[in-house]
Parts: sequence; structure tokens; C-alpha cells
Amino acid sequence: MPFQFLPNSTDLARHLPSPRALRPWLLGSLLLSSVFTLSAYGVAELAPVVPPERNVKRSELPTPDLGSTVASGPFWQDTLLRRGDTLGSALHRLNANEPSLLRFVRSDATARELLELQAGRLLKARIDESGKVQSISYLHSSGKRILVQRTGNDWNAESQTPTPFISQRLINGLIKEDFLTSFAATALNPETLRQLDEIKQQYGGERGIPAGQAFSLVIETASVDGETLRPPRLLAARLPGNGRLIEVFLHHQGETGSYYFSDGRAALPAFLSVPVDHAAISSSFAMRLHPVLGVWLQHKGTDFAAPAGSNIYSAAAGKVSRIGTEAGYGNFVEVEHANGMSTLYGHMQGFAAGLKTGQAVQQGDVIGYVGSTGRSTGPHLHYEIRRNGIALNPDNTRLPSLPALGGQNLQAFRQQLPALLTQLQTASQTALALNHPARFE
Ligand SMILES: [Zn+2]
Repeated sequence: MPFQFLPNSTDLARHLPSPRALRPWLLGSLLLSSVFTLSAYGVAELAPVVPPERNVKRSELPTPDLGSTVASGPFWQDTLLRRGDTLGSALHRLNANEPSLLRFVRSDATARELLELQAGRLLKARIDESGKVQSISYLHSSGKRILVQRTGNDWNAESQTPTPFISQRLINGLIKEDFLTSFAATALNPETLRQLDEIKQQYGGERGIPAGQAFSLVIETASVDGETLRPPRLLAARLPGNGRLIEVFLHHQGETGSYYFSDGRAALPAFLSVPVDHAAISSSFAMRLHPVLGVWLQHKGTDFAAPAGSNIYSAAAGKVSRIGTEAGYGNFVEVEHANGMSTLYGHMQGFAAGLKTGQAVQQGDVIGYVGSTGRSTGPHLHYEIRRNGIALNPDNTRLPSLPALGGQNLQAFRQQLPALLTQLQTASQTALALNHPARFE
């Protein structure tokens, strides 16, 4: 005889209460709701309300046998690392105080990496029923995991590289008045946000990208055991531009990635147009009455007013050629770039820690902080861009752009393009649906 797993329909009907049996309950609930309706209108002088009889049926449920279904440990516990945390303080929060473990970490070459924990990441500890630490684990943002395990009376450290789980998210939103806050929910790293801002400066048109327009992003996240490995990566973006859409795609070359148009042209210029955070242009390249000297001079650069302490970035890849202090420029840094180009940054409050002459810098590396040193009336960055030592007027000079992709790079770029284009398309259609729900009515 075949085994019957589901009851047939007549069996089911037999188990349901009949409509006749439901009638008193329906009546009761109607009465109840009218009582509540009355009291809701505050008719207090009505006769005392007789509470309807309540039929409560109790049945004892068997107590589940927790002992056999819940593991008795050891359990993994984790703590979010804070700024200034040491391994000792983090273990203390986990109730995992083991002097022998700390001694081992200090003495073992592999485990010693646990002495440099990054704020914002997790430290995990596996603790048994008696409160004894069995192992600790830490996933570095580089993808390396350090696992320290108890082996009898001693400890053993292992460095692992687990395969991350890569996933993609389609995000769409509306451009806000303050462009960068449009992307606040994406958790993109500051470098990527700066690149988006640069793309907006370059292609957003005279008035920039107006608020209220839709954008779409394809973002890649990598995680190990549910823990995010690194800041999400922006793979593709569609931004509303100057009367047309700007679509850019990430291409990785070694450690650094940059954005390109679908034909392989670089979306980012070789020189940042604004090499400082929170900037407003306060004086451009022109003849002006010098605010301190009181004489008419050719102003050979652009002044960006910005709060003291704001980051100043190297506008392009190059080599630090001078770091110094001078009466006019105050604290300044000069960077030499390819093709006889150089940039100069003046009135700095201070230099990036450890910055040295001869040091190689990438576009967007922090080289110093906004100040008001030298002949200056308030915190601002004086920025000069020179070709063969002659200051250029950025307003009427075509600055070099980054080279377009070619050869194998272009080939690799083209291979990933169709999938990204499809995702951008999907994301923007979702945005359309959200913005115009009437379409589906
Ligand atoms: Zn200036």
C-alpha cells in the first residue's frame, strides 16, 4: 500500500470547525468590538458593562527537551573592536582573560599580528562551558584570518586565507542637494566617493548635477562567515549628467582601480580638479589685489577655502620633490608628475605623517592638511599646477587625462562590460518602478 503523507481534502474538511460551530464566536467578537467602539467615544454614563464570558481552553504542551537540542558549547562570541583597543582589552570584553594566551601571542610570529587589531573589525573567541578559551579568530581586511587554538597546555597559531563570498548589490537613489550624501547608505570608501565627486565635477556640466535626479550603482561586497571583508567596491555607476547619462565602470590594474567609460576612455582626469576636502573656490587664477601685501599681483594658482585640518590630496600620481616652509607659501609641498608637470600646495597646517622628499604618491593620497601658514588671511589651500615650471591657468588649460585602456586591459574590461551594463539597466528600471508606481496600477 502506498504511504499517504497528506490527508485528502475530505479529511481536511473534517478537521475544520463547521460554520455552525463558529457562529457563537463570531457573535461574541461582534459584541466585544461594539463595546470597545463605545468606550472609545467616551460614553462613560452607560450602565456598567458586563464583561462577556470568556472561554479559555488550556492544554499542556510537552516541554521541549532543550538538553538534547541546544549544543552545550563551546560557543563562538565576538566583539567589535574599538579605536584604541588592545588584544588584552578586547579579550577582557569577551570574558576571555587567559594570561598564557597573551604570552603566546607576543612570542609567536604568526599570532603576533593580533597585536595590531583594526578598529571596526571583529575579534572572535570560542569559549567552553567552564569559561576557558579554546580558540580566537581574527579576520584582517586583507582577507587573512589568524586562528589561535588551544592544544593541550599550549597554543598554536595558523594563518588562513578563506575564500570570500562575493555578492553584488544594485542600488538606486536620488541625487541630494549635497552630492556626496546621496551615497551615504552605500558604505563606499572615501576614495571612491572622492572619485564620484570628481566625475561629477568633470561631466556634471556648469551647474553640476541637480538634486532629485535618479542614479544607479552596482556594488560588490565580499564577506567571510558573514563578516564584511573590505569596504564595498563600486563596479559601475550611472549618474545623471549634463543632458545625458554618465556611465562609468571600474577597471582594476594591480592594487588601484579607476573608472572608465564603456569605450575604455578614462573617466577621471590625470589631475584632480579639487585636491582638498570641503572646498569652495575663494580665488582663482587672475590679477588680484593681494590680501596681505596690498599690491596687484598675478595670482598663479587657485585658492580653495576649507576648514583648517581638512585633507589635502596629491592631485596626480608622482613623486614628492619638495617639502618646506617659506614666507609666502608657508608650509608647502611640491609634487613632480610625468611630462614635466608639477603641483604645489601652500599654507598647510601640517604635512601627512612620515611624508618625505622623493616619496612616490598616488592620486588622492593625503599629503597634508589645510592651514593658514605664510602670507594668508584664513585657512585655505593655495594650489598651483605647472608645466615645465610655468604656472598654468586651470580654467583655460586642457589638463592631461589618464590614458585610455588598451591591449589586454581593454580586453579584460570589455569582457566584464555586458554583465555590468545589464545590472545598471536592471537597477535603473527598479528605480523607475519605485518613482512611478502608477505604471503598475
Ligand atoms: Zn593662493
